[in-house]
Amino acid sequence: MFIDSHCHVHFQAYKEDMDEVIKRTLANGVFMITVGTQQDTSRLGLEVAGRYEGIWASVGVHPNHLTAQTFFDDDELPPEDQATPRIKTRAEVFDPAYYRELAKHPKCIAIGECGLDYYRLPEDVDRDEVVAIQKQTVRAQFDLADELGLPVIVHCRDAYADQLEIVKEYTRVGKLQQRGVIHCFAGNLEEANAFVAEGFLLGFTGVITYPPRKTDALTDGLTMSQLVIREIPLEHLLIETDSPYLTPVPHRGKRSEPSFVKFVAQKVAEIKNISIDEVERVTFENAKRLFQIK
Ligand SMILES: [Zn+2]
Ligand SMILES: [Zn+2]
Repeated sequence: MFIDSHCHVHFQAYKEDMDEVIKRTLANGVFMITVGTQQDTSRLGLEVAGRYEGIWASVGVHPNHLTAQTFFDDDELPPEDQATPRIKTRAEVFDPAYYRELAKHPKCIAIGECGLDYYRLPEDVDRDEVVAIQKQTVRAQFDLADELGLPVIVHCRDAYADQLEIVKEYTRVGKLQQRGVIHCFAGNLEEANAFVAEGFLLGFTGVITYPPRKTDALTDGLTMSQLVIREIPLEHLLIETDSPYLTPVPHRGKRSEPSFVKFVAQKVAEIKNISIDEVERVTFENAKRLFQIK
């Protein structure tokens, strides 16, 4: 079995055919962890996971949902009102009581995705203020994970130094015993090693199947992420799709689905010069261990 350690198969993008996609994925030998991003998607993910064997879910608030943004992701949430042009996402204030209640669900295996995202900050807000809110909210979610003995699924973009500092605040005082994963990891080797040293896993998506961009600095013909995969032992890696986003080659450009995690596994095998069977076996064990799946 493979496990897609990070997808959003319960999102609006699968409104028409979610049941088919899930059954097809399971029939292809792929288990799934479907990840919440705010209150509604966290609740729905658990509901969907409860209906099938082989799907688990996480609950949490994505940093992009902490401030009103000028974009709206049609693939994530249903329209609030069909008649109004949707130019903003809703802003959420993290409510620990709400998520503590959700986390009692037997299929809830992690808190997240939570973290820091400095890439997509709205232009009309004070940057320091947004960063402060993001930091405060990721700490609140780490506290909840620590309290419940769950691992964290961390979303981090353009903020690795700050994220690492917060991770250390917890690990250095014996907190977050279950650790977590830095999903869709896009940092350099030094940053990768630093998170691994704190006991965190690194998750890789279909992005690793993309050819290098003109601006990419290559090492032995490898992009930065591919180099990280070559250098970090398989025991510290997870594979994921982040479906419906980041579709791997050869399906790039279409909506992704969790079974495509096999293309990510294939690329990891190629980069590390090992068999796909080994990638399958070890990443599955890693996911089982991290998320305490029996
Ligand atoms: Zn993410
Ligand atoms: Zn995600």
